[in-house]
Amino acid sequence: MKRILVTNDDGFGAPGLQALAAALESIGEVWIAAPNAEKSGASRAITIHEPIRADPMGERKWRVQGSPSDCVMLALNELLEFRPDVVLSGINPGPNLGENIFYSGTVAGAAEAAKYGIPGVAVSVNARHDIDFQPACEMAAQVTRRVLAGGLPPGTALNVNVPHPKSGGVRVTHQSSKISRNFFLASKDPRGRPYYWMDEEVPWDDAEPGSDYEAVRDGYTSVTPMRFDPTVYEWLATARSWLMRSE
Ligand code: MN
Repeated sequence: MKRILVTNDDGFGAPGLQALAAALESIGEVWIAAPNAEKSGASRAITIHEPIRADPMGERKWRVQGSPSDCVMLALNELLEFRPDVVLSGINPGPNLGENIFYSGTVAGAAEAAKYGIPGVAVSVNARHDIDFQPACEMAAQVTRRVLAGGLPPGTALNVNVPHPKSGGVRVTHQSSKISRNFFLASKDPRGRPYYWMDEEVPWDDAEPGSDYEAVRDGYTSVTPMRFDPTVYEWLATARSWLMRSE
């Protein structure tokens, strides 16, 4: 019996999490450790200055007062008495493409698993309202079956983004460089103090060939294999000679 840990960054009660957990029931035993609150954009945040509480929410389920990384770290080190075969994170309403991978709490859940050498899969859907999670659930189940059968290279997680509505098949992609444009909505609160609210615009026509943006734009599910060692290996030798040069 395969054992699957599920987390997300939208909170324990989020419909995407519940749909994902239900879709994985036929594949293995599903365990859930998910944040008690909205943690979108939390990236790899961890809680270190206060305790973390984990409320049991029934069999094999906890609602954790923490980030997605807290959830996975706590589950792997404390809550679970076994090592899960795979960790799923999602399903996030809204895509995690390009540089958003760096900020995503959804991706962080999968990244945390990869850190422990457990395959991680982050799943997002390219819609924020009136979402039909079914196609993304089927895709998540399909990818999970493959990962359980074939494994992933050590330290690897998959970033899966499903178009909405879904039309094409699957493309294995690379993370796009930044094509989105950030802007801030500026306004004033009721007491006259200014505030700024960040948003982004995506020029989908500018998507790079082979990138995650391009696949989703064209109606394909994007699967990007990710690693989390940011070392610039090809520059190590140069950097050494450069730093140690005496002049
Ligand atoms: Mn989210």
